[in-house]
Amino acid sequence: MNGRYERQMPIVGEEGQARLMGARVGIAGCGGLGVNALTCLVEAGVMDFVLCDPDVPDISNLNRQFIYSAGDLRPKCAISAEWALALNYSSMADAHAEPVTYESAAMFSGCTVVLDCLDNIESRLALGDWCAENGVPLVHAGVTGNHGQVTVCVPGETPCLRCMIGTLKDAENPPNMGSTVSVIAGIQATEAIRLIAGLPSKARGRLITVDMQDWSIGSTEISSNSSCERCGS
Ligand SMILES: [Zn+2]
Repeated sequence: MNGRYERQMPIVGEEGQARLMGARVGIAGCGGLGVNALTCLVEAGVMDFVLCDPDVPDISNLNRQFIYSAGDLRPKCAISAEWALALNYSSMADAHAEPVTYESAAMFSGCTVVLDCLDNIESRLALGDWCAENGVPLVHAGVTGNHGQVTVCVPGETPCLRCMIGTLKDAENPPNMGSTVSVIAGIQATEAIRLIAGLPSKARGRLITVDMQDWSIGSTEISSNSSCERCGS
């Protein structure tokens, strides 16, 4: 193990670090959450990614999606793959410029964990269903304005994502600021690192909410929802 990771070794341990370096991580959505989480995970030693986003950068993304620049109209997933390589030349990434659907989520086959960094409920639920049915852990995050949330869904151990957000509706162009998106993506990446490294986590099956106006952090247990299309009777 080289010196690159020596400061985090007391936290993740030698075995945990080896797991990080051997993990394949899916990042669904290369927007504000995705580019932040990707950066944290490459820094932590993850070197193999599946990156998915159908979009090219828009000028209105640049207040929070810091790896993009005006005028670079390549797909976000391709720019993100290049970014991962710039941070660590040993990185590899499969880039998929397509929406996440239940069918396309098969691109995440073989991933150790998938991060839900998406911007719409339909794709989030499709991803959650695919992960639940294929035994792949999912770390969900969302942020709107000063409010953010994170949860960790582990198939067979916790309720599914649909149990939690199955009744939510999309907000059209929600307000977002780069600094607050980074806070939530940092929590999301931390949970992904814990999951990969085999460290304990209190976010499994719990909804972590962060109010960045009042600076209150909540943690609520998620129970299987009887009206969930997957888990309900
Ligand atoms: Zn469910």
